[in-house]
Amino acid sequence: MRRNLVTAAITLALCAATFHAAAQAPAEVSRKATPPMLQATTQLPRNVRPTNYDIEVVPQAEHLAFDGKVRINIDVLEPTDTIVLNAVDMTFANVRLGRANGKDLAPATSIDAAAQTASFRFDRPLPVGSYVLSIEYGGKINTQANGLFAIDYDTEAGKKRALFTQFEAPDARRFVPSWDEPNHKATFNLVATVPAGQMAVSNMPIAQSHDLPGGLRMVRFETSPKMSTYLLFFALGEFERATGMADGTEVGVVTTKGKVAQAAGALEASKLVLEDYNDYFGVAYPLPKLDNVAAPGSSQFFGAMENWGAILSFEFILLVDPKISTIRNVQGIFSTAAHEIAHQWFGNLVTMSWWDDLWLNEGFATWMAARATEKFHPEWNTRLNAVGSREGAMNRDAVATTHPVVQQVETVEQLGQAFDAITYQKGGAVIRMLENYVGEDAWREGVRAYMRKHAYGNTVSADLWSALQAAAGKPILDIANDFTRQPGIPLVKVESAVCNGGKTTLQLSQGEFTTDRPDKAPLRWRVPVVAQAVGGARVDTVVEGGKGTLEVPGCGAVVVNAGQAGYYRTLYGGAQFASISRDFAKLDAIDQLGIMNDTWALGLAGLRPASDYLELARGVPADADPAIWADIAGSLGSIANHLKGNPAAQKRFQAYARAVLQPVFSSIGWNARPDDAAPVQLLRTTLIRTLAALEDAAVIAEVRRRFAAGPDDVQAMPPALRTLITAIIANKADAATWDRLHAMARAEKTPLIKDELYGLLGIAEDKVLAQRALELALTDEPGATNSAGMISAVAGQHPDMAFDFAVANRAKVETLVDGSSQARYYPGLAGGSADRAMIGKLRAFAEAHIPASARNATETSIANIENRIRVREQRIPAIVAWLEKNGG
Ligand SMILES: [Zn+2]
Repeated sequence: MRRNLVTAAITLALCAATFHAAAQAPAEVSRKATPPMLQATTQLPRNVRPTNYDIEVVPQAEHLAFDGKVRINIDVLEPTDTIVLNAVDMTFANVRLGRANGKDLAPATSIDAAAQTASFRFDRPLPVGSYVLSIEYGGKINTQANGLFAIDYDTEAGKKRALFTQFEAPDARRFVPSWDEPNHKATFNLVATVPAGQMAVSNMPIAQSHDLPGGLRMVRFETSPKMSTYLLFFALGEFERATGMADGTEVGVVTTKGKVAQAAGALEASKLVLEDYNDYFGVAYPLPKLDNVAAPGSSQFFGAMENWGAILSFEFILLVDPKISTIRNVQGIFSTAAHEIAHQWFGNLVTMSWWDDLWLNEGFATWMAARATEKFHPEWNTRLNAVGSREGAMNRDAVATTHPVVQQVETVEQLGQAFDAITYQKGGAVIRMLENYVGEDAWREGVRAYMRKHAYGNTVSADLWSALQAAAGKPILDIANDFTRQPGIPLVKVESAVCNGGKTTLQLSQGEFTTDRPDKAPLRWRVPVVAQAVGGARVDTVVEGGKGTLEVPGCGAVVVNAGQAGYYRTLYGGAQFASISRDFAKLDAIDQLGIMNDTWALGLAGLRPASDYLELARGVPADADPAIWADIAGSLGSIANHLKGNPAAQKRFQAYARAVLQPVFSSIGWNARPDDAAPVQLLRTTLIRTLAALEDAAVIAEVRRRFAAGPDDVQAMPPALRTLITAIIANKADAATWDRLHAMARAEKTPLIKDELYGLLGIAEDKVLAQRALELALTDEPGATNSAGMISAVAGQHPDMAFDFAVANRAKVETLVDGSSQARYYPGLAGGSADRAMIGKLRAFAEAHIPASARNATETSIANIENRIRVREQRIPAIVAWLEKNGG
């Protein structure tokens, strides 16, 4: 699954332009050495095992309901008088258990809504053996993305409704009574009765279909391979499909009618990536086809989902609309396809035994997508994105509420919150570090052996480490365990750097980086450290037991974590930091970015002067890598935001920041040049957005001039800038402008553009307009899956207001948020606050409305609020003082 980061991005100051773009993502641990996990309370008894499901569904889209029948082949493994499986929001009409040569048994059915199970009790124990369990049932079609769900969307011919499914993690049980756990793999036969004019899509190709009376059609899909329930998929609507071939597999894209040409990029990306992964994994993709199905609308929880053979992606992450799509959208489409296709192996072919090891799916897919994007699009220079991804993980990992990559998951609510930056970004960063440690070839050989050995099976982390260690012939299991079984971030300190005879001897020590526990006794990690002097060769060691020494060829500035593959922060002493500042322009761009990020984070945590970042930024040449300037723009914007409560200082700082950024923007300009590299295009939008937020009068005037020209003037509003310009206008809107944007949203017939406009209505700075957006979000007008995002958009500017509003309208708001996101939706609204009072309000809300096992998002939001207050009180004054001294 690709997480939906829209909410996270929109809470950044004025980041609304990325509204769509952001959806963009151990020792021999033999099984014996792994501490046995307690069987989670959500897990089913192990006395019965399903082997095949024959499912028949008859959707009644207009009534938001469906009829279902299922025949499940099961093996009773020990005598039992009760069969328990998962089911939610279902009514059971007829349940029978049949056995060869026996007569059908009719059990007593009972439902446990809290446990999401149904139990079938028989008069006497069933002997061990094979049976067929038949159930007739009725289910709901939801209006948020859980189970079988409907999306209503606009077309030139009026409103249409399409159906899709979303089952990860615990929602297949809303579609079919089932052993809805990843380690209960089975084969699936799906038959659907559908309107004859519509297209039905599932994991497998259609085996057979024929017309029925009443304008209906029966569609039978081929039998799926053995797989987990959460990967089952079904969609139905007025679709069209385009296909191509890759290594003998039919690769397809499916969209609503009239949109399939916009999926050409996704189709090409999928073909490239599928062929590459066939080679990388050493096991060919086993299904006859692989579709990527585009759904209008959005989810608070996810952007795309890897259903085997039928990936589901929301339109904003799959379609290129020539009116509004930017290079960031194009990149997001490629990397999302690469992520979801990686899951066809890591997750679908080999699946974690239980959700504790979700990271095996997500960390690997995150890493693999980055690898494929770098390989096929070197011109995008996304190599540097690894630093930002690691930073996302570290922000989460530096506070007390963090958790290990491998985490205990016991309840359905905990399952939803397992899909976080630790599982994805830290998982991906740890894989990157370990691959770098053992080498690319050994790593790939280990992955191939793992795929061969566990195909169609389930694994735990130790299975992966064993395969990799065997292939590498190098001990990685202790390191992997340190980084996946304990939380937090190592802090590697350079205690001394002594130059002698053309070599620098580094004395290193290991602490722990936290933002909220300065006195915490550090955990111990075995940390692979790579170091390099400017122009010299890289050397490496493993820091163990808290200490390490490294002899680096060359003298002068020495970079620790050279290449930035390590998951740790580096703290330099004063003299080393000074020489790095001096030679900054000579460093590799990825090291510049890593050092800037460390300096910023260490400064905000009080481990360096907070102004060191500004000192470093002063030494950055105008022609530095665009990613460096984008980072500087982001940090300057953040400082300006922190100064909100101090208008005089904020004004002075804005002037300083504008003076830093304007020369860079002048060299890039407003208009794209044919030879603009992708990073330059990205930097252009970052600078326009940041300068507008810094109240740059010229930039704002130009934004207004272009917007006034209207969306059809492609000189003024080229696709690369259209969303950005509209976002800045929306952010600074007065009532008349907001009304105009609202009218545009209402009139728009293209779902992709319409959804975006409704999101932008939420980002007004003006509180009266923000309130109007909140009220509009509760109406039917924006569309059922857009409303929650609008409220989140308001929270980006006015977190306290959005939170209070959502709490006051809780009954309605809960119908607008998909089930998997409920526990983190309210904390997400509050998380951008800088008001101490919010901490109490959020905690009280959580105690009343969020299950105790699912309050991690709450506690993390509270930690973020506390951290923001601490930074404003303790760090920002140092920046203001630096500015006074340095001509700000
Ligand atoms: Zn994923």
